[in-house]
Amino acid sequence: MILESSQSSQRSQNSQSAHEPQSISSTQSVSRTQPGPSTQPVHMTQQAQGVYISTYGCQMNVNDTERMYSLLEMANYAPVQTPEEASVIIVNSCSIREKPVHKVYSEVGRYRKLKERNPQLKIGIGGCVGQQEREKLIKTQPLIDFVFGTDTIDHLPQMLAELNEGGSRLVKTQFFHRAPYHVETLVRNPGVSTFVNITKGCDNFCTFCVVPFTRGREKSRPLRHILTDIHALTARGVKEVTLLGQNVNSYECESGTDFADLLRVVAKETDLERIRFTTSHPKDFDEKLVQVMAENQNKICEYIHLPFQSGSTRILERMNRGYTREQYLDKIAMIRRMLPKVVFSTDIIAGFPGETEAEFQETLENG
Ligand code: SF4
Repeated sequence: MILESSQSSQRSQNSQSAHEPQSISSTQSVSRTQPGPSTQPVHMTQQAQGVYISTYGCQMNVNDTERMYSLLEMANYAPVQTPEEASVIIVNSCSIREKPVHKVYSEVGRYRKLKERNPQLKIGIGGCVGQQEREKLIKTQPLIDFVFGTDTIDHLPQMLAELNEGGSRLVKTQFFHRAPYHVETLVRNPGVSTFVNITKGCDNFCTFCVVPFTRGREKSRPLRHILTDIHALTARGVKEVTLLGQNVNSYECESGTDFADLLRVVAKETDLERIRFTTSHPKDFDEKLVQVMAENQNKICEYIHLPFQSGSTRILERMNRGYTREQYLDKIAMIRRMLPKVVFSTDIIAGFPGETEAEFQETLENG
């Protein structure tokens, strides 16, 4: 795994709640806790149309898929279990490696027969491949009706409305660089555990990673918005939240609140029983944060996903990781000292370009 948002299995979170019959009427069961920045009101039809979303990649994508289902449910679409039942098929794609990109193309190809049988079927590409390839997808893939990016998910209902009214194929992949990150949590059937986004994008530009280009520069949500979402979720029975971001440790909202402050407030002021977070960056994981974890062990899980990527300082430099082998190991020792029961997981890249056998051995020694 090379991306710092742990690569999760496809459709992992959404598959359970996505399996509902196509013919049900929309019940408007998703409520918004804060005004959405870009969602337009969409004319309701009597019967919901089926939507099928296929998800690749990291937990951010899994969470984005849930957001898409939620937005579309509000626009009178209902999740269906198979592409055959759908009026709209969306591939929420991942471009972390070449293989997932190829998977997107082959998946779209598999829908050719469905499109021939039903020319009204709308096929869209979202996620990182959509963000990266943009118009190229429309130009080279005649089956695709719409492409959207990681910053334009909330435009989905309006895009579909335009297509359904006979509009031409659409691409909406702009980044809203200057807009604040106000994107409330949308979850249909949250169960006991769910994600809450706290940051988006990344400023680190690790040399192997596409995230700063496909998700944009890092932005943090205001603390009060995060708390509003969590209060709404606990009122719906949620007991555990995972605070989600490409690099949660560099969270900083306009009031000067950093990630340790946020974690402390979430632990003290909400009714959550368990709090998790992912993903962490070693260079930003400091003693203040560990102190907050130590003081709130009844709520904050003593589990840290802390990717080291390589045990060789030279390779870490080539990766632009911002820490040395020694600094990483010192940090682990500090965390273990303050949180003796802590459990770590990590990501490692083997065979980074230019890595020697001896440098690979240094990575093995870290274990
Ligand atoms: S820190 Fe940012 S650029 Fe580096 S791997 Fe993580 S998401 Fe990618």
